[in-house]
Amino acid sequence: MAPLNPHPNHAIANYSVLVTGLTGYIAQHLVKLLIAKGYKVIGQVRSKEKGERLKSNLGSDSFSYEVIQGLEVKGALDPILQKRKDIRAIFHTASPVLFESKDVYNEVFVPAVEGTKNVLESIYLHAPQVKKLVVTSSLAALASYDQNMDPNFIIDETNYNNTTMEETLKNGSNGYYGAKTFAERAVWDFKRNKYPNFEVTMIMPSYTIGPQAFDSEVNGNQLNTTAQWVADLLKLKPEDPIPGFLDSQIDVRDIARAHVVALENPNTNGKRYFMRLSRTNMQQILDIIHKHFPKEFGHLPKGKPITDYYNEIFVKAAYIDDTETRKIMDFDYISLEQTIIDTINQILRTK
Ligand code: NAP
Repeated sequence: MAPLNPHPNHAIANYSVLVTGLTGYIAQHLVKLLIAKGYKVIGQVRSKEKGERLKSNLGSDSFSYEVIQGLEVKGALDPILQKRKDIRAIFHTASPVLFESKDVYNEVFVPAVEGTKNVLESIYLHAPQVKKLVVTSSLAALASYDQNMDPNFIIDETNYNNTTMEETLKNGSNGYYGAKTFAERAVWDFKRNKYPNFEVTMIMPSYTIGPQAFDSEVNGNQLNTTAQWVADLLKLKPEDPIPGFLDSQIDVRDIARAHVVALENPNTNGKRYFMRLSRTNMQQILDIIHKHFPKEFGHLPKGKPITDYYNEIFVKAAYIDDTETRKIMDFDYISLEQTIIDTINQILRTK
């Protein structure tokens, strides 16, 4: 077992951490990392079947799970928190990642926002021993689509998506952006108004791509939304147009690492961290696939390969300043090329 992190609040590692939405793409990488670091992890999952699959994938006595159906139900988390007094930190990752809902309010907004409020309330009422809450927020809460695409705009870790409820309910994409924004606001409001015992750190991933935590999750299965976008490129026919943009992206394994930094480094308390490597698009990803997998995927459309990425991708979008995030994240981000190579290799070996 890897040694526990010697950081000042490493004592937390002697206790259990709870992860909501443990069946998720990001959360599965997170739990792998936490267990490798010696933490005991309790996962909130929505079905026993998924919990058992994770247990078998992890093969670790340090992992257990609890089935709780929908966090949008008031008090949903209470039974776990009343029972497990060993929980000292919580990662709240659960939230629908859905950009095309027809019922934005019920399918996206309520689970994201009410789910988050219920988690906060349950900790407050039943788990005063919890000292840290790490929330998986999003680029979506940092900037609206329009802010992100405005070349005169600067996005840094202090920026907030300025969307309204009315805009949020207009369509699926707005719905996701708005739900993540209002969910984050609910956290800071709660912290300001109720003075809970726990500190909060917000991890704000950009579009997250990269391999699944376990090969068994691939094998033709429907992947989470963002990983599926990359997998879908492999289904293109030679004459197909290249699909649209992807924007700021990052490897899922770096998102997992960032969550652990948030847990272990008290300097992250009360802060927001924007996790992104670079802006990209599907053309650039296809270029990487053609470069590294000509035998397997030479038939995919070539589009117009980009020769000068720095100049050609998203020059017309907002300027991003993630200096504060880079300072605190004590690891090198995985390159886009490596992300795509690892993703495609996993798809090939699980075929
Ligand atoms: P994912 O694979 O779709 O995972 C979502 C997780 O949330 C699943 O465990 C899902 O449970 C759970 N969930 C959904 N609705 C729920 C509800 N009402 N109650 C309880 N659990 C619920 O997505 P992901 O990409 O790992 O996303 C995880 C978190 O990262 C989300 O908060 C998302 O907003 C955030 N994020 C993701 C990206 C990205 O590009 N992927 C970027 C920025 C932020 P089931 O398995 O039972 O459905």
